[in-house]
Amino acid sequence: MTSKGTVLVTGGSRGIGAACVRLLARDGFDVAVNYARSAAEAEKLAGEVKAMGGHSIAVRADVGSETEVTDMFAHIDEAMPPLAGLVNNAGVLFEKARLEDFDAERINETLRVNVTGSFLCAREAVRRLSTERGGEGGVIVNLSSAAARIGSPNEFIDYAASKGAIDAMTLGLSKEVAGQGIRVNAVRPGLIHTDIHASSGQPDRVERLQGQVPMGRGGTAEEVAESVVWLLSPAASYVNGVLLDVTGGR
Ligand code: NAP
Repeated sequence: MTSKGTVLVTGGSRGIGAACVRLLARDGFDVAVNYARSAAEAEKLAGEVKAMGGHSIAVRADVGSETEVTDMFAHIDEAMPPLAGLVNNAGVLFEKARLEDFDAERINETLRVNVTGSFLCAREAVRRLSTERGGEGGVIVNLSSAAARIGSPNEFIDYAASKGAIDAMTLGLSKEVAGQGIRVNAVRPGLIHTDIHASSGQPDRVERLQGQVPMGRGGTAEEVAESVVWLLSPAASYVNGVLLDVTGGR
């Protein structure tokens, strides 16, 4: 299959990001798999993409670090076909707690990775994709969350607020770069079966809360990834500035 260009998936080593990597490879994209700690998982996934006929590299960078992000994009420029898209997926979630028990370190780390990280990667992507800067245009998909509209009371309002920021960035950036050949959308997953819930001290969170979902079950990483790859595809060529809930109706 002819290459459709490179898509960078941040936090591509596990969960929703890993599902995006596999589906992008299925659809003929070359994929750069970013990770922070899970080197073995990321390398394994890059191997899977290559076995499917695509170019792929695993690339370590903390998305909240400006120098690591610029180094990562420079490495992708050298090692991969031209950038066609970005999936801003890397995200962190900390221990379930009420706001009255938060400290600044926790709040800042949530915002550093989830918000600053997404802004920095979007910046580097726009600099490469923009038709005003010699690029071919492209697509950015941000992973927000239903938490942005629910607010996550008694669990993680800081995380919900970070996703509210992603919604606002999606709306603003989609208008800012629409004339430069770049579409920007967000997917807002609901309760999805991944390891992220264990980081909040609630590995059984999806099973416990799935009764709140009109469809009566949690979702899979693949069900979220299908929406992401659709937004990246030409089939979504007139979809811009959308916050797409993938929540089973919750
Ligand atoms: P996950 O299974 O915990 O995976 C998180 C990914 O982010 C991992 O690949 C991790 O890399 C990476 N990551 C964490 N910190 C990073 C950093 N500083 N720099 C680069 N990569 C970093 O999470 P998930 O459930 O797949 O979630 C993916 C996205 O969907 C997140 O933005 C999350 O907020 C959002 N979301 C998830 C749900 C859900 O129910 N699962 C619901 C709504 C929204 P390492 O493996 O190297 O640590």
